[in-house]
Amino acid sequence: MSRTFAAVVAHPDDDTFGVAGTVALHADDPDFRFVLIHATSGEAGPIADPALATRETLGTVREEEDRRSWAVLGREPDRHEWLRYPDHGLADVPFDELVDRITEILREERPDVVSTFGPDGITGHPDHIRVGEATAAAFHRLRAEAVDGFERLIRVAIPQSLLDGWNEQLVAAGKEPMDPTQLYQPRGVPDDTIGLRVDTSSVAARVVQALREHHTQAGDIQDMTDDEQLEMLSREHGVVDWPPRGSADPVLHDVFDRLD
Ligand SMILES: [Zn+2]
Repeated sequence: MSRTFAAVVAHPDDDTFGVAGTVALHADDPDFRFVLIHATSGEAGPIADPALATRETLGTVREEEDRRSWAVLGREPDRHEWLRYPDHGLADVPFDELVDRITEILREERPDVVSTFGPDGITGHPDHIRVGEATAAAFHRLRAEAVDGFERLIRVAIPQSLLDGWNEQLVAAGKEPMDPTQLYQPRGVPDDTIGLRVDTSSVAARVVQALREHHTQAGDIQDMTDDEQLEMLSREHGVVDWPPRGSADPVLHDVFDRLD
């Protein structure tokens, strides 16, 4: 039976951090279909090396970096849509328009599982929060229309215990801990709200290689050792936003786990 997974994110590299391991685990499955939607091309982001891009070319360069990241991972999206809304400007796009654009693609694809950001946007980034809200609205609109698929909505998240562990390591190494009250710093969610925990350790080396294709964003990971990068990318977590999760429900180990 074929299964479709759709990920809806804000910027090039959000996908690498959030779902690349999950996709890599399904890379050899002929019945797996992967749909990827980027709301922006990330043109307002950092430029790690001025030789790589200018402010004018950064969006185009980052789209190409993202395409290469999936090629290096070994599983390219079956469909990849760039909505090309303004980076750092998603909150200014009329919300209904953003929902409509996402709905249109998801209606054609009827994914079994949709993944996007949760209300914390992982880092509090307003674009992340907005694309998560719009994707959830699109998901529930299509469910209400009784379109096939749309069995599960995942909001990517970081368990608080994992964030605490990273911070302990930072402090032990004499570095500043991450501060979740600051914009663009990672936030955790209570561990007991995590409904999806995917062990991506078997493909983490490939995800690290994919992440390194985002050359213009190298500043994000330049302070981390190879082992730290591997460790960070050895698992992916999410909150199961739909269907509502009971406190006794088991933690899922794959986005398609326990679907009929
Ligand atoms: Zn982002």
